[in-house]
Amino acid sequence: MGCQMLVEGPGHVPLDEIEGNIQLQKRMSGGAPYYMLGPISTDVAPGFDHITAAIGAAQSSRFGADLICYITPAEHLALPNEDDVRQGVQAAKIAAYIGDMNKYPEKGRMRDKEMSKARRDLDWEKQFKLALYPEEARAIRKSRMPEHEDSCTMCGSFCAAKGAAKLFSEDLQLSGKL
Ligand code: SF4
Repeated sequence: MGCQMLVEGPGHVPLDEIEGNIQLQKRMSGGAPYYMLGPISTDVAPGFDHITAAIGAAQSSRFGADLICYITPAEHLALPNEDDVRQGVQAAKIAAYIGDMNKYPEKGRMRDKEMSKARRDLDWEKQFKLALYPEEARAIRKSRMPEHEDSCTMCGSFCAAKGAAKLFSEDLQLSGKL
């Protein structure tokens, strides 16, 4: 009838049914914008529905959902508080980002490539700059600083990134390229 419309999708869908659901809705509505409530991809994790929804949301974003609804850890349990909302929005933003990486592989993966290089180079400031949530990442690292500041406490003195950098530099020196 010429009216604008937005189709609201379901909130509980197993992972392997999300693609078909979106294709069907898009076909039936003539390609109208489609809004997904995540979806929650399993019903057995109350208290963690921001995660079950983010897993579904990454998939629905990947397959063409146009709008993602955030779900909080309080879903099905209580009215969400401020912290629940923060966690829900953060998880939904990560999910949409992952979906976009697949929808737009050229542009969508540049930031990940940069992050991989920053990790290889143990460039912590660059890693924080590229992070979706730098404050949280910085706070975790700061709370457990390693003995050698360029690595982290995960592998400590066995830091593989550090070992590889040393190995490659020795290799280049031996081959006369440095
Ligand atoms: S210690 Fe391990 S986890 Fe930490 S930066 Fe090195 S390789 Fe990565």
